[in-house]
Amino acid sequence: MLNISKVETFYGNIQALRGVDVKVNDGEIVALIGSNGAGKSTLLMTISGVNKAATGEILFESKSIANLPPHDIVNLGISQVPEGRRIFSRLTVEDNLRLGASVNEKGKNFDQDSKDVYDLFPVLKDRLSQRGGTLSGGEQQMLAIGRAMMARPRMLLLDEPSLGIAPKLVNQIFTSIKNINKEKKVTVFLVEQNAKKALELADRGYVLVNGKNSLEGEGKDLLNNPDVQAAYLEG
Ligand code: ATP
Repeated sequence: MLNISKVETFYGNIQALRGVDVKVNDGEIVALIGSNGAGKSTLLMTISGVNKAATGEILFESKSIANLPPHDIVNLGISQVPEGRRIFSRLTVEDNLRLGASVNEKGKNFDQDSKDVYDLFPVLKDRLSQRGGTLSGGEQQMLAIGRAMMARPRMLLLDEPSLGIAPKLVNQIFTSIKNINKEKKVTVFLVEQNAKKALELADRGYVLVNGKNSLEGEGKDLLNNPDVQAAYLEG
């Protein structure tokens, strides 16, 4: 479904990605793990078109998306939940959801699409008129995922969904990611510092080191890999 090959991305003259290869198959959950600064967020931003790949190829369902603007990439079926959630804090929960929907002129389906979001995250339905900025961190993460789902994605890019969230809500959010994948049939590419949780959830995973591929394999094999355990799972 998504085929990334030899991608290099720069910030000015700082090279963040040094020839990255990743494949995500239709229906999978794929996790990307790595230390701070490895380039994980940069890769997601490069897929969603916010950053541009200087070289390499990004194919989504065999179509090259590397030079498309972000809104076209959303319209093709890829939605991103950015690191730090980036919800609109002064807008209500409902308006945050409407902004997710409007990207694809699918606002006309707001009632049905928002109902699907409330099924995933019932707490949002009780908070429709509350300002986004007054939600808890976990609730904001739910809103950010819900907003991305309003664009009816076939692939969801999630950047650190567990960051700064209470452990109990982390479990709830990981359960909802599994539901989105299994029940809503959305393919998931997930970046996480919480390598254990991510690899337990994922079908497959990749390890990124200094902007380059390091290891890849099935989630459970990476969980049992001594190098992965030493670098990302202990302590
Ligand atoms: P983290 O887990 O800390 O978010 P990451 O793996 O997501 O790390 P990136 O945020 O993609 O890593 O950063 C990769 C490299 O690119 C780092 O060296 C970082 O300092 C650099 N970088 C990221 N964003 C910018 C920017 N806007 N301008 C300049 N350099 C940047």
